[in-house]
Amino acid sequence: LIELQGVNKYFGELHVLQDIDLTVAKGEVVVVIGPSGSGKSTLCRTINRLETVQSGTIRLDGRPLPDEGRALAGLRAEVGMVFQSFNLFAHKTVLQNVSLAQIKVRGRKREDADRRSRELLDRVGLAAQAPKYPAQLSGGQQQRVAIARALAMDPKALLFDEPTSALDPEMINEVLEVMRQLARDGMTMVVVTHEMGFARSAANRVVFMSDGRIVEDRAPEEFFTNPRSDRAKDFLSKIL
Ligand code: ATP
Ligand code: MG
Repeated sequence: LIELQGVNKYFGELHVLQDIDLTVAKGEVVVVIGPSGSGKSTLCRTINRLETVQSGTIRLDGRPLPDEGRALAGLRAEVGMVFQSFNLFAHKTVLQNVSLAQIKVRGRKREDADRRSRELLDRVGLAAQAPKYPAQLSGGQQQRVAIARALAMDPKALLFDEPTSALDPEMINEVLEVMRQLARDGMTMVVVTHEMGFARSAANRVVFMSDGRIVEDRAPEEFFTNPRSDRAKDFLSKIL
């Protein structure tokens, strides 16, 4: 579903993505881990064309990513993204947050969008919060609204960039549980996270990045029990 081939990206002199090859099949959950600054966020942003690349190809469903214009907005709707900071509209209700892009991007009627939003809010356990404003919700609840909002576009895949890093410990699990459920329902997901329990239990593959390269790309049990590279061993010894 998502295919990167020979992708290189620079920020000035910094070679932030180096010869990245990565394929994510439909229904697969790929967890991306690695030290700070290794290029994990840039990789996610690249898949969603929030960043351009200097060389290589990125395909979604076999088609190269569009560079600009209407097709790019279409791509963003097809590949949802959930960030560490929830990026909800503070002056809109939870329901409006989930409905807005459905109306503006998908051209749905408000009542159809609202109906879909209520279904999705129910799915992430927030049916009762629809009329509230983001500031009235906990961080974990706000992140679940952000997930519902991304799902409302009927995306082919979802990208998560450290979705639980800004949350208090007791809220991390409620967000991971929603993500696990999405994985069980067959959603294609690329997840940058430091939650190794999630990687072990929900990922089909773990991709380990270091200095802009994919150093390992393997099944979670193999990666965690027998990392091949010194960099991965070193990384795991610090976080486990
Ligand atoms: P973290 O775990 O801290 O989130 P990361 O693996 O997500 O790190 P990136 O955010 O992708 O790393 O950054 C990779 C490198 O690119 C870092 O050295 C960072 O400083 C640099 N970088 C990121 N964004 C930009 C930018 N817009 N302009 C210049 N350099 C950038
Ligand atoms: Mg990052």
